[in-house]
Amino acid sequence: MKKIFFTPGPTELYPVVHNEVVHALNSGICSINHRSTEFIDIYRHTDLQLRKLMSIPDGFLIMFLSSATECMDRLIQNCVAERSYHFVNGAFSERFYRTAVELRKEASSILVEHGHGFELEEVPDMHKPEMICITQNETSTGVCVPMEDIYSIRKAYPDALIAIDIVTAAPFIRPDFRKIDAAFFSVQKGFGMPAGLGVLIANDRCIAKAHSLKDSGVPIGSFHNLISLAEYAGKYQNTETPNLLGIYLLGKVCEHLNSIGHEKIAKETSEKAEMLYDALEKSPHAAPLVRDKRVRSKTVIVVQAGERQAELRKLAYDAGYIVGSGYGKYKSSEIRIANFPMHLKEDVAALSEILVNF
Ligand SMILES: *Cc1c(COP(=O)(O)O)cnc(C)c1O
Repeated sequence: MKKIFFTPGPTELYPVVHNEVVHALNSGICSINHRSTEFIDIYRHTDLQLRKLMSIPDGFLIMFLSSATECMDRLIQNCVAERSYHFVNGAFSERFYRTAVELRKEASSILVEHGHGFELEEVPDMHKPEMICITQNETSTGVCVPMEDIYSIRKAYPDALIAIDIVTAAPFIRPDFRKIDAAFFSVQKGFGMPAGLGVLIANDRCIAKAHSLKDSGVPIGSFHNLISLAEYAGKYQNTETPNLLGIYLLGKVCEHLNSIGHEKIAKETSEKAEMLYDALEKSPHAAPLVRDKRVRSKTVIVVQAGERQAELRKLAYDAGYIVGSGYGKYKSSEIRIANFPMHLKEDVAALSEILVNF
């Protein structure tokens, strides 16, 4: 029996990916030149479909990189001369912070404990940050930062660039792009595609900042600096020979998601999340890691299962579902369940049943 991946990424492929890969191979798409009009049309189609799905306004460019981790690197390198500020609540936000440290920036951070969110009644004093970096959905802990909190941070620091990691939030979360400056994701999570493509959505302020860094002699990298990426994205092209198959598939997945409609996708995601959390509240031996409902992720549900974690994973496996293990030192005491658009309601119901009875 084919197992269904409920891992938080890579995860189950979106069904449309199968046929589109076959189509791409049969039609010779993978062999076309990346400066050809055929390629430009593919990029333009993907750009258009993603813009529609995520409501991305004019003034934002969609750029293709190799991964989300690369997006972190490029944002810090191109938009921070000296100071960045980081909201750190798990391994991926920590990675963003470490990127700034390794690029020799003065990075500051606010840290919270495993499974906790940020109390933002008062926005912390960040000391003139050039960029504020937030992991909207922390995949290692299942904690999210509500978009309203992000908008209030923006209000308090209008001069800073706001960069958000939406890797496991998109396409469920649709940020109000007028209140942020950059967002990025990779495709092997909520978009259900093979890995190897990072998508950076950034506005004019980010590009202008890259120019000002360059003019003042701060190194901004070579082929994937924001200036070069933006110049080519404006022509629906890449600096280098890109992951054409990934760009093509993303366009097709977005087209499919648009045919369902964002509203319906968001509603179903919320309903499925509720099913899983309800099951966890009832379960005698499993509990949700995140206790504060306000910051509970709807797309990555982290379960504390203690010493019986392996047993729970096995039960899910025997029923046909591969769930993720905990992250890092919680590898063998927690499980992580992804709740993305390709995950069907009936499968989530079956998984919930397992949790209730555990
Ligand atoms: C998976 C993940 C990343 C890293 O994505 P890559 O494509 O492996 O670079 C970054 N941030 C979050 C929140 C993630 O879940």
